[in-house]
Amino acid sequence: MEQQLQQTLLQKNFTDILGQGNAKQQLKSALLMGRHVIIVGRPGIGKTTLAKNVAELLPAIEVNDCGYNCSGKAICPGCKTGKKAGRKKISGRERFVRVQGSPDLTSEDLLGDIDPIKALKFGPASVEAFSPGKIFRANNGILFFDEVNRCPAKLQNALLQVLEEKKATIGSYSMDFDADFIFIGTLNPHDSTTENLSEVFLDRCDLVYMTYPETLELESQIVAEKGKSKIEFPGELLTSMVGFVRELRSNSKLEKLPSVRASIGLYERAQANALLDGRNKAELQDVKDALISVLAHRIELKPSAKYTETAKEFLEEQINERFGAASGEYG
Ligand SMILES: [Zn+2]
Repeated sequence: MEQQLQQTLLQKNFTDILGQGNAKQQLKSALLMGRHVIIVGRPGIGKTTLAKNVAELLPAIEVNDCGYNCSGKAICPGCKTGKKAGRKKISGRERFVRVQGSPDLTSEDLLGDIDPIKALKFGPASVEAFSPGKIFRANNGILFFDEVNRCPAKLQNALLQVLEEKKATIGSYSMDFDADFIFIGTLNPHDSTTENLSEVFLDRCDLVYMTYPETLELESQIVAEKGKSKIEFPGELLTSMVGFVRELRSNSKLEKLPSVRASIGLYERAQANALLDGRNKAELQDVKDALISVLAHRIELKPSAKYTETAKEFLEEQINERFGAASGEYG
């Protein structure tokens, strides 16, 4: 698995994301040495897209049709007993398994479950006793662990044991863990409501940092490519709109910042407003009419600023400053 990925990384580039040259380089470098990686960045920045891109670069392979992609080495209880599953071809994209980190995630979901009574009769790793968890489905692929810091410390430790020692403790059984996968986690560093990753875990991973699109031009390009385009959207209006979102990100009063999804939302809603008005070209007023609905809940004021105004009031103030209360003029 590691060797296959190394070859791929040396030959191909991540093309699903525009810009992010530094993050791409760091990710490649870490994966090339088979190191565990955590992509760090705020929501909506493209962490999932970048990780998926790694899987998409992997070649298609032929595996057993057992649900656990056994190929060569049997890892699931069924294939281990020699039960014949059919063969099937899976693409790089299908070699991507996503696990959502959450406080509710259980060890049974993640690693699997062993029925103690059946384990006595047939053995803990038998088809009868053992139901493998989600992590086994990532065999011969990528295990993408979104917001890994949100799962309980106990699960973080279990995952660490799998990554480091290739052993899993399931119930009271210690099992050798044969599944072979690349681990890519994500982390939102500004999510204060969640548990932190333990120091031990962080010490076993390399961190790759993603930022908002590096330039205004780049973000405008992303918005025009990813957003729905129904009608004409003047270039200078797009620049002005994306520029406004980017300015908000550097406003010292804000704690939660608008993502690229916010820019895309404005782009689409402004077009919708123009269409509703019977026009085939978006205007500044269409953007202004969309701003509160798209942005107000996507930002959050710092506690000190919250005291004097709401996010909506703050935004209205910013809109007036930038675009003026009257319509028709660019900021
Ligand atoms: Zn199998």
